[in-house]
Amino acid sequence: MIPSYELLDGFQIPQIGFGTYSLKGLHGVRVIESALSHGYRLLDTAFNYENEGIVGKAIKNSSVPRDQITVTSKLPGRHQQYNNAMHTIQESVARLGLDYVDLYLIHWPNPKRGTFVEAWQALIDSQRSGLIRSIGVCNFLPEHLETLEKETGILPVVNQIELHPNFNQAKQRQYDQSKGIITQSWSPLGRAGDVLSNPTLLNLASRYNKSVSQIIIRWHLQLGALPIPKSAHSSRQIENIDVYDFELSPEDMQAINNLSSANGRLHNQDPAVYEEF
Ligand code: NAP
Repeated sequence: MIPSYELLDGFQIPQIGFGTYSLKGLHGVRVIESALSHGYRLLDTAFNYENEGIVGKAIKNSSVPRDQITVTSKLPGRHQQYNNAMHTIQESVARLGLDYVDLYLIHWPNPKRGTFVEAWQALIDSQRSGLIRSIGVCNFLPEHLETLEKETGILPVVNQIELHPNFNQAKQRQYDQSKGIITQSWSPLGRAGDVLSNPTLLNLASRYNKSVSQIIIRWHLQLGALPIPKSAHSSRQIENIDVYDFELSPEDMQAINNLSSANGRLHNQDPAVYEEF
């Protein structure tokens, strides 16, 4: 059983989720069914991943009751205009083959377009009509969150941001926490790049008798963040949630935080200027 965090709106959300980016087709269905069978109860998809259909199929195939699974999807930048956003949310829910989606997020703020507030209004209205349970955002900076609060009075319950040892997002996490927003970590393992062979992390893995991935996932949890690692391998799916039998010392947490740098993003996707449609 993966423990939960409580969201601002009172709902519970598992502390670790399962990323589905790049999982496609019948192979993807099997991979997601496997994740559910190993205990994952939070699935992260997006309209833009073009795999909401197979996520829904895996949920149907699984013996886990629907109401025990938290399903997340995301609104793409090209559909931020209010009417488009309303239709896209309805399309997401239909593609998933569900009656409602548990958590729906704005995928990127695309601030130069000036449309994220009307997109947010569409999420609010879809929540009121019962199509979405909880509403949140991805890649929002403090100034974007302030705009949502000022314009609508409603804060997201989740902010999903790039977060891994090379980019620990200390300031954004602090801001989210001050507002009661749960920070979710995307690419929590740095997309299996050089971070997995970092000497500091290898050393910690050997001292704690855990894998580097487990050290990293544990670090996310002790930061109070919610990692959503993706793995197509059953053994790694198990490994990535087997992190509740040890605790990193404050010094070791600091050693991992010291790996972070201002230019540590994987692909230089700074939400102040980066746009995704
Ligand atoms: P990630 O979860 O950091 O890393 C995935 C990679 O790590 C895969 O190549 C996987 O390989 C490998 N891996 C997983 N567990 C491992 C382990 N125990 N040992 C060694 N390698 C391991 O990267 P991600 O997929 O980019 O991020 C996770 C999720 O975040 C995505 O799937 C998506 O749902 C979400 N996301 C959101 C945004 C956003 O803008 N909101 C952006 C990016 C991602 P195998 O699959 O071969 O095991």
